[in-house]
Amino acid sequence: MRHIAIVGGGTAGWMTALLLANSSYGERIKVTVLESPQVGAIGVGEGSTPWMRGFFEEIGIEESEWMPACDATYKAGITFDGWSTRPGFERYFHAFASMLDNLTMTQFVDNVHRRLNREDVHAHPDHYFIAARLARECKAPRPRHEFPFDVWYGYHFDSVKLGQFLHRKALERGIRHLPRHVNAVQCDEHGDIAALQLEGDERFEADFFIDCTGFSGLLIEKTLKTPYTSYADALFNDAAVAMPTPLDGPIMSQTISTALRHGWAWKIPLTARYGNGYVYSTAHCTPEQAETELRRHLGLLDADVPARHLRMRTGRVDRHWHRNCLAVGLAQGFIEPLEATALMLVQRTASLFVKALEKGDLGEAAQAGFNAAMNTQFDGTRDYIVAHYKTNTRSDTDYWRANAANTHLSEPLVRLLRTWLASRPIADGIRRGTFGQGYPVMSWYSLLAGMGLFPDDVGSHVSGDAPHSLAAIDNLIERSARNFPDHRELLGAIPPRPREETLQVYFW
Ligand SMILES: Cc1cc2nc3c(=O)[nH]c(=O)nc-3n(C[C@H](O)[C@H](O)[C@H](O)COP(=O)(O)OP(=O)(O)OC[C@H]3O[C@@H](n4cnc5c(N)ncnc54)[C@H](O)[C@@H]3O)c2cc1C
Repeated sequence: MRHIAIVGGGTAGWMTALLLANSSYGERIKVTVLESPQVGAIGVGEGSTPWMRGFFEEIGIEESEWMPACDATYKAGITFDGWSTRPGFERYFHAFASMLDNLTMTQFVDNVHRRLNREDVHAHPDHYFIAARLARECKAPRPRHEFPFDVWYGYHFDSVKLGQFLHRKALERGIRHLPRHVNAVQCDEHGDIAALQLEGDERFEADFFIDCTGFSGLLIEKTLKTPYTSYADALFNDAAVAMPTPLDGPIMSQTISTALRHGWAWKIPLTARYGNGYVYSTAHCTPEQAETELRRHLGLLDADVPARHLRMRTGRVDRHWHRNCLAVGLAQGFIEPLEATALMLVQRTASLFVKALEKGDLGEAAQAGFNAAMNTQFDGTRDYIVAHYKTNTRSDTDYWRANAANTHLSEPLVRLLRTWLASRPIADGIRRGTFGQGYPVMSWYSLLAGMGLFPDDVGSHVSGDAPHSLAAIDNLIERSARNFPDHRELLGAIPPRPREETLQVYFW
């Protein structure tokens, strides 16, 4: 393989180009990114998972360089507000992992199981994780150098600026850019892609093609007719409306996800503004109703702030790599923005493909293994997202009642929820990969305990075992949190990250 054409210059296209350029195969291939001047990148997607940190580390770009260029902030996790109506569980924080969690996770899990067995003990996750405390105090989840306990944080960023930054970096690293619309795709007699027909009637040939054309899926779906598995029966949201608001007060180090009448609203802090949006189901409300509800939620009913409306499709292609074509980004699939997982899946897809290239293993068996692995990652991540909706207890609208009553759940998710409700440990099943793939054990416990999925008659059982000392946990977390700087202060002067500081987080 000598020439790879990436069709699409959104975040997926440029991330893939940079990972290819960075690979040990990079010197041997020419990579061209073709981008339509008339079809823009989607221009939303302002949050990441902690995996994004690995992306920038892998391509050797410092936070102090890319973060200011993209108005980026640190993210310790996500607050879910109003998803549950169970008393005491109306709000919880999904914390990103920290090495310190190893000191508190056992007590949390033990208390969760006691509560599932009807003991009246404290089992709300917010108490047990340093990241929740940092978010509450608007601290950066990156400790001072002398404190060696890392938090595995993510980021928020201006997605348009991130695209521009990655584009610039890719050009510096030898990637070619061709701003041309692809009118048609030509296949050879075996069914492989042979060339792209560009506007102006030019033919563009390459050995391998990467489809980063977003929801249009020009190569993988429209040309190669790869089957598509829809997630719409389990994930009802198919539209979003977004609008910015000015920053006020300290800069949060978390995303806020607030349940509204027909979906949920995100609030994402950047250094220059907040990004806000409402992800909703068009089967349950119109775009006008959604916009009005978001404006009311933001206190902008009478303000002259323009709104941006978007449609989205949730699901995935069955073969992400088919013939001489790989699909990455929205072209391969999309779950929904709730846990900001899309760029993580871009990164994993591109990295897995780079590994295959480096091994020189591009045969049919390698393709089948690759596709099975990507499908598992997509479906496992979908299950984690679906669990948020399934366990909601709101009854104010048809939307929430339909989500709670939804029976279109995957078999692994049904098994996981049954195991939980029977108060059996879920950790083994998740680690063995028999259910709950896609998210670590800690995230599942946080979600299900955070939503308050416990028996109604808690308190009817007393075990007699000594309870865990919450005061000791509070003390540990409070003293540890003193080693993390104010978020705004750190963003004002981001220090380089010494290589030896990067520690493996043990995933519970
Ligand atoms: C409401 C919403 C919120 C989201 N929030 C998040 C989030 O918080 N975190 C996250 O990780 N992700 C999020 N996402 C997903 C995220 O926006 C995308 O995964 C990411 O931007 C990558 O998009 P892309 O590059 O695949 O596609 P796009 O940005 O759509 O880029 C497509 C590219 O293909 C090119 N193209 C299309 N057709 C042609 C053609 N015929 N010829 C040549 N070029 C062509 C276009 O010019 C463009 O450059 C969100 C998505 C939505 C809809």
